[in-house]
Amino acid sequence: MCGVIGHPIGHSLSPVIHTAALEHDGRDAEYVAMDAVDLRAELERLRSLDAVGVNVTIPHKRTAWEVASRRSHEAESIGAANTLLFEAGESLAAHNTDPVGVIGGLRDLGVEPSGLPCLVVGAGGSGRAAVWALASAGASRVMVANRTAGRAEGVGGEIVEWEHLDDALGEAEVVVHATSVGLAGEETFLQVSVLSPMKCRAVLDLVYGRDETDLVRKVGRLGIPTADGLGALVHQAAAAYELFWDAPAPFEVMMRAAFRATGRRWH
Ligand code: NAP
Repeated sequence: MCGVIGHPIGHSLSPVIHTAALEHDGRDAEYVAMDAVDLRAELERLRSLDAVGVNVTIPHKRTAWEVASRRSHEAESIGAANTLLFEAGESLAAHNTDPVGVIGGLRDLGVEPSGLPCLVVGAGGSGRAAVWALASAGASRVMVANRTAGRAEGVGGEIVEWEHLDDALGEAEVVVHATSVGLAGEETFLQVSVLSPMKCRAVLDLVYGRDETDLVRKVGRLGIPTADGLGALVHQAAAAYELFWDAPAPFEVMMRAAFRATGRRWH
């Protein structure tokens, strides 16, 4: 078995995405959602059940990094893990597939960040992963802005003060929105009018839900390539699947399952 641990976890689409892949590949395995406050205790329980590995989400990504015996280069650099693999003995390997999600989401919009000035809005778990992903992909600069100033420190990007967010938005050719605003259908706080289709190549909103986010709707009206975070979610899930099963993930099956679960069609 494998699954995802979070608190809360009810909203997670990971079980739908992974289950579609497991069924497609004919694996005798299940992927379950686990609501747990105590990550360490839940990991012990899973090890005793011979689980292959587990995804972790809010609020456990930092603890997942801490409890691991060894960490991939991505996880080590980002300081958080979203995928754990049970290994022989008591060993636990930590990985972070969120950067694969960010780069995959941008590629789906036809953009490679290499050589481009980028802006990440938000410096929580997904913001940190986005900064690392863009820097590793060779962005010419990676600006990062966070409402709470101190939290952007140590993330690795060029810190932009919150009150100068509009200026950075006007300078960036790639924008990744990584705050939780929009999750509940709220209006975006980003001043979308400063974006120009002549300059900005893509806006990736990591937030996703049943409906298009307000940010995606507004950016789309400007004619700038944009998408919400559902595609990125599937890219990170596919990378985790490959770690769990050491085999290629049936990506299109996973993408279709995610879109179906949100009542949308994937083209
Ligand atoms: P997190 O670690 O809790 O960070 C939350 C971020 O949102 C922080 O930067 C926080 O700023 C900011 N924020 C919250 N309310 C705000 C407001 N009213 N105005 C401005 N900033 C605000 O969460 P996370 O794990 O990074 O997740 C963030 C979002 O990304 C969530 O919607 C999550 O579902 C999504 N996500 C998507 C994927 C994907 O694959 N598509 C993967 C991971 C996460 P402060 O520091 O100032 O509080």
